[in-house]
Amino acid sequence: MRGPAFPLPPNAVIGIVGGGQLGRMTALAAARLGYRCHILTPERESPAGQVAAYVTEGEYEDPGAIAAFAAGVDVVTFEFENVSAGGLELLAALKPVRPAPAVLRVSQDRIREKSFLNGAGVPTAPWRRVETRAELAAAVAAIGLPAVLKTTRLGYDGKGQSLLVRPEDLETAFVALAPKPLVLEGFVDFACELSVVAARGEDGRAVAFDAVENRHRQHILDLTLAPAQVGEEIAAEARGIALRVAEALELVGLIAVEMFVDRGGRVLANEIAPRPHNSGHWTIDACPASQFELFVRAVAGLPLPEARRHSDAVMKNLVGPEEAALWGEILAAPGLIPHLYGKAEARPGRKMGHVTRLFPHGGLPGPFGIEAALGPLAARAEVERAGRHLAEQVVQPDLGEAFGPS
Ligand code: AMP
Repeated sequence: MRGPAFPLPPNAVIGIVGGGQLGRMTALAAARLGYRCHILTPERESPAGQVAAYVTEGEYEDPGAIAAFAAGVDVVTFEFENVSAGGLELLAALKPVRPAPAVLRVSQDRIREKSFLNGAGVPTAPWRRVETRAELAAAVAAIGLPAVLKTTRLGYDGKGQSLLVRPEDLETAFVALAPKPLVLEGFVDFACELSVVAARGEDGRAVAFDAVENRHRQHILDLTLAPAQVGEEIAAEARGIALRVAEALELVGLIAVEMFVDRGGRVLANEIAPRPHNSGHWTIDACPASQFELFVRAVAGLPLPEARRHSDAVMKNLVGPEEAALWGEILAAPGLIPHLYGKAEARPGRKMGHVTRLFPHGGLPGPFGIEAALGPLAARAEVERAGRHLAEQVVQPDLGEAFGPS
């Protein structure tokens, strides 16, 4: 393999597997640093392809497409994690891949992910691997109810998981969720959800943004509050976890760690994503160097600056046709910084863009202030600490029975 010299010189080509908005914002950050991006995506007119210098249109598993893509790049990275082991091997045989395929293999599989996290000394909710009905029964006996049963692969935005509340829920969920094995997790009665984005360079130096707080609506990220409205100790613990994870993975690239804070103030890791993350979009407007810049720098072998914020921020996702339709009002509202992803069709649940609202450093207002600052989006934002979106999960507790007919 011809090895490129790192740091990559200006005009070098960064190959990005995946054509979504994360690739788009990465390509924009790369352009500012003097690089060109080459996108591998099956999608015509993809969000990333629209702003990149080169596009290979092809399936992630197609050896021909992979070879054509790899021939035109100096380094390969991902904005999309679910590339098969075969696809990863092909890529790694042709060009340097950052982060390393081994990192993706950990994040692609919840069982490997949790084993890895616990092995690195990072606490998670209690969990068990479940392959059979007998193992599910034993896992529920050990962990108790409520609990969450999840597929090990390809789960995102609440897909591939069921909340188990009553013993009857076990069978329905077991039949509904595939492929096996599954993983059973204790239900965390969380006070809030946090995430931290960290970058680690080839020299092993790692930096982490401040912990942020995430609010979901119908399983999809709705709002990110930066910084998280939690005590200093919890925020420091969360950052420490992200840095520990980056170190333990020997990561070269970017990682987001999603965490729960339980009612006792314990920080538990939920998921890791070795790529830019939706909960890091606020960094574009509130930090001198965004998550995307740090990602590009790490992948290109450039030095990493501090992951510092100059402002506090609230990020609101624009999801589906209703929120995309507010575009005109958003543009007319003072203080809202708009980002649109270039998706032609606004399907329900599809992330179409986001807006950021900045506040002075240390000046994030309370819920009323945030609501007021979101202007036309106020009524659509999960500003109050709702957090309980698992109550709407696939297997629902019988609320009619619990609360009587409404
Ligand atoms: P995940 O696909 O694991 O990121 O889960 C999506 C969302 O479901 C999380 O952001 C939480 O809001 C919720 N959730 C997942 N696992 C648990 C759990 N063990 N306890 C409570 N809530 C959970």
